[in-house]
Amino acid sequence: NLRARERLRQQSVRDGLTGLFNRRYLEEALDREVRRATTARSTLGVLMIDIDHFKQFNDRFSHAAGDVVLKEIGRLLRESADGTGVACRYGGEELVLVLPDAKAEDSRDAAERIREEAKRLALRHDGRDLGTVTLSIGVSVFPVHGATAEAVLKTADAALYRAKREGRDRVLRLLAERRLVQVPADTVWIRDFGPVFVSRRDGSRAAFDFDYLRKSGPKERDHDDTVTRAIAGHLQVPAAH
Ligand code: GH3
Ligand code: MG
Ligand code: MG
Repeated sequence: NLRARERLRQQSVRDGLTGLFNRRYLEEALDREVRRATTARSTLGVLMIDIDHFKQFNDRFSHAAGDVVLKEIGRLLRESADGTGVACRYGGEELVLVLPDAKAEDSRDAAERIREEAKRLALRHDGRDLGTVTLSIGVSVFPVHGATAEAVLKTADAALYRAKREGRDRVLRLLAERRLVQVPADTVWIRDFGPVFVSRRDGSRAAFDFDYLRKSGPKERDHDDTVTRAIAGHLQVPAAH
């Protein structure tokens, strides 16, 4: 009975084909890891991974052959998670790897390793050589590229979209334009998306999410005040580099 219940629980958080965690579990895990990283003043890497031209691959080799590829990439991702990471199937042929305590460089290195290893997989189905597949990967880091679970995932997705547009088979991180905005107490840099960078009078810096501020201060004339209050509320957020 205990074992049956455990199996049921596993089924509710795992994807049947790849054995990776499912999207529902990812959302829970990401919230949890963001809270943990905030408390620990640490970072968190998010890799959004998509198989290139997978529709073509299915058309050429069959859907069953495509499933073999998904399983193999899934295995590669579980190995890359190495016990501490959370490897998920986000949907279709889109996978997400969450890497606790990973900085931007760690996350990019992990993504590059996965991209390279995917190319080296010996893919076979029904005695047939399936050739190779390539991956596009968008990388985003909490709190540098997004200061909420939702924002960091969104930025990874935007980076993935850009990786596709720039030719696929690549890893991309977004670095946006900076705009300078003056607020009463401090200086705040606002990027087009992702976090707000705050430079305080004592020279320290922090980053938090702009979407959050927008939601919390809808009235334009209240904006400066809202920003200032939000800064005060977020001083515990780790400094951006
Ligand atoms: P892109 O490089 O832009 O990502 O092109 P794409 O063809 O990979 O992207 P698109 O989103 O057009 O197609 C996704 C394909 O993934 C279509 C769908 O058949 C395939 N796919 C999604 N889930 C599964 C699955 O569980 N098994 C198999 N074999 N294929 C799947
Ligand atoms: Mg694809
Ligand atoms: Mg896709």
